[in-house]
Amino acid sequence: RLRLEELTKRFGTHRAVNAVSLDLESGEFFCLLGPSGCGKSTLLRMIAGFESPTAGRILLGEQDLTALPPHRRPVNMMFQSYALFPHMSVAGNIGYGLKGLARAALAERVADLLKLVRLEGFGDRRPGTLSGGQRQRVALARALAREPKLLLLDEPLGALDRGLREETQGELRAVQRRLGTAFVVVTHDPEEAMMLADRIGVMEAGRLVQVGPPADLYRRPASRFVAGLLGDVN
Ligand code: ATP
Ligand code: MG
Repeated sequence: RLRLEELTKRFGTHRAVNAVSLDLESGEFFCLLGPSGCGKSTLLRMIAGFESPTAGRILLGEQDLTALPPHRRPVNMMFQSYALFPHMSVAGNIGYGLKGLARAALAERVADLLKLVRLEGFGDRRPGTLSGGQRQRVALARALAREPKLLLLDEPLGALDRGLREETQGELRAVQRRLGTAFVVVTHDPEEAMMLADRIGVMEAGRLVQVGPPADLYRRPASRFVAGLLGDVN
């Protein structure tokens, strides 16, 4: 269980993230929803350890993660741009974070991950020869390689066109269910959040203004802002 306590990030006088408290359950699919600039990426970067909070704490069970560097946290983050290494094969990209493993164990692990994202047979390809959706799945496999307890995904489907996006939404959810890894997925598409999430957190100007299962938010929005955000989803 990951707990955020009054997490705050100020840039100068601007509070990009303002006293956000949240408990994330293990294995849940959590969507972070809100307009551009409301602090979604900043919140994720603090959880991953790429940004240090101005105030507040991040706890995993009893362990305080707040001061740990990113690689010591049982958390991984997948960025919107995917940032695959173009000169490396798909298998090389996926295995990049697994350097400590012996060769045979590494090959086996990479094969498992390729299977997980339905890219068996693609290990020798270069990212440049893949479609957008395939690249997205390579990035997902790489992010999952070290078996994080929590995976943070910043608009993972943002670069995909509509058809591919819908297809990939289902896959993302399927992979998450199979692994039981908790996912926090940033989106500014309310429809996507309603479809995918166990719980949705809505952010407005740095604050987490409502958290709950999609149906609750839809039926009992806590404010006009939340109602407006979910209003055009049926
Ligand atoms: P988007 O949906 O457009 O990605 P977001 O919700 O992810 O938006 P953030 O990137 O978290 O928004 O930014 C929140 C606020 O903090 C914005 O006003 C942004 O300009 C500001 N901000 C983010 N990073 C920095 C930084 N390094 N220095 C100063 N201001 C920053
Ligand atoms: Mg962002």
